[in-house]
Amino acid sequence: MSGFSRRKFLKTAGVVPAASLASAGILLSACDDKAGNKAVMTETPVPATAAETTATQKGSAGVVVIGGGFGGATAARYLRQFAPEINVTLIEPKHQFVTCPASNWVLGGERTQSFITHGYNNLRDRHGVNVVHDRVTSIDPDARKVTLQGGDTLDYERLIVSPGIDFRANVEGYDAAAMEAMPHAWHGGPQTALLRKQLEAMPDGGTVIMAPPPNPFRCPPGPPERASMIAHYLKKYKPKSKVLILDAKDKFSKQGLFIEGWKQHYGYGTDNAMIEWVPASSDGVVEAVDVAGMQVKTGFGMQKGDVINIIPAQQAGAIAAQTGLTDDSGWCPVDHQTWESTIHSKIHVIGDAAIQSPLPKSGYAANSEAKVCAANVVQLLRGNAPIDPHWINTCYSLITPEHGISVSMVYDLVDGKVAKAEGSGGVSTSDDPTGRALEAAYAVDWYRNITYDIFG
Ligand SMILES: Cc1cc2nc3c(=O)[nH]c(=O)nc-3n(C[C@H](O)[C@H](O)[C@H](O)COP(=O)(O)OP(=O)(O)OC[C@H]3O[C@@H](n4cnc5c(N)ncnc54)[C@H](O)[C@@H]3O)c2cc1C
Repeated sequence: MSGFSRRKFLKTAGVVPAASLASAGILLSACDDKAGNKAVMTETPVPATAAETTATQKGSAGVVVIGGGFGGATAARYLRQFAPEINVTLIEPKHQFVTCPASNWVLGGERTQSFITHGYNNLRDRHGVNVVHDRVTSIDPDARKVTLQGGDTLDYERLIVSPGIDFRANVEGYDAAAMEAMPHAWHGGPQTALLRKQLEAMPDGGTVIMAPPPNPFRCPPGPPERASMIAHYLKKYKPKSKVLILDAKDKFSKQGLFIEGWKQHYGYGTDNAMIEWVPASSDGVVEAVDVAGMQVKTGFGMQKGDVINIIPAQQAGAIAAQTGLTDDSGWCPVDHQTWESTIHSKIHVIGDAAIQSPLPKSGYAANSEAKVCAANVVQLLRGNAPIDPHWINTCYSLITPEHGISVSMVYDLVDGKVAKAEGSGGVSTSDDPTGRALEAAYAVDWYRNITYDIFG
């Protein structure tokens, strides 16, 4: 980690949340897991008094959670863990959730779809969450009701909304049909499988075009990690091929570490480079797609690809905009202490859909926000003051299966808003081969830990 030692990070990450949440009746502890992974937290709710539970007894409307992904499923589980007396209903159309985290490893041929697929049985059977597989078609903030596609309506005392992202039409011609020919693979599941199939079918000597989106978007290090994992696959099986990144931006997350890794493994910057990056300032922005011709339009002409991965600009999941939870930015303004919408009371928005900067739009951040939100929803339902929260985020990326890098940060609540904790955070060191191998192992352990924390 540059400018910040890992020891100091662990100390900060462990001590800060424990102190604050304990004061609110929720005890947190931080420890390293078996593989030395960072800040694994366990929470023990302090039992509510009889008076506190009256508003939340079984049979009451309780809390409804929309979206069974990183934010929503975590919130549902932790609500039940913090306050077992609360009725929690999770609405999610899919019976199995396929994660975006680790999907780049599937594209690189290092993992399978089954590794990144998780079910809801444990949430239902172990944690007592009422899981309903349906889609919310409307929310009535005044009547405090949600309506499902199947026709049912549900009342709520508090609603937590974590619908993830939807796309904005920033690339001309990139419609639903184009997504089948030029997959985005920015929602987990069939799109990841489709992109992988196209990579497998591509001839050696072919070009993979990737078009990352403008800011803000889900998972800032996701595009360069994807380029790395695709190049890793090509190097092994189709070594005359390359990845051409046509970027809507002039810089990207962990840029120095990625470029160093690309030089080391993929000849970046040489005539034989397997990864080439064209930033926005060099006319890299993809303006339009020609699906029939398998080409994209940029400021330096049409570029032909054998596989084309367009990642469009993003905004909060559609149900948020439809309910009037978004502002002009397309994302949802919230009070960061409780994650309650500043537009509609009793509705909390977490995960990628929320305006959470400087927290990134990541699964780790969504998981961290969900725990804070669940804790404060319990506080509010019990008639208590919300606790003063802290958050943590680490984003791991693989450049090869043995070369991992990460960026970490701890966050405080300052003047009612999320702020980077002074002296916390940093990125991996760049010149330590043992560290890179360890970071690669941590990346896999992180994935196993967080998916167990959510779906286990
Ligand atoms: C390629 C890639 C790699 C990534 N890698 C990492 C990583 O290594 N680490 C990391 O921390 N993050 C990573 N992320 C980011 C991570 O996937 C997201 O930040 C995270 O999933 C956000 O959680 P969420 O709850 O907001 O949305 P999601 O996890 O997408 O969950 C949203 C859920 O809401 C449901 N939903 C939507 N609308 C409705 C409705 N109307 N009714 C009912 N349900 C609805 C959807 O079906 C979906 O299941 C990656 C992302 C990508 C694309």
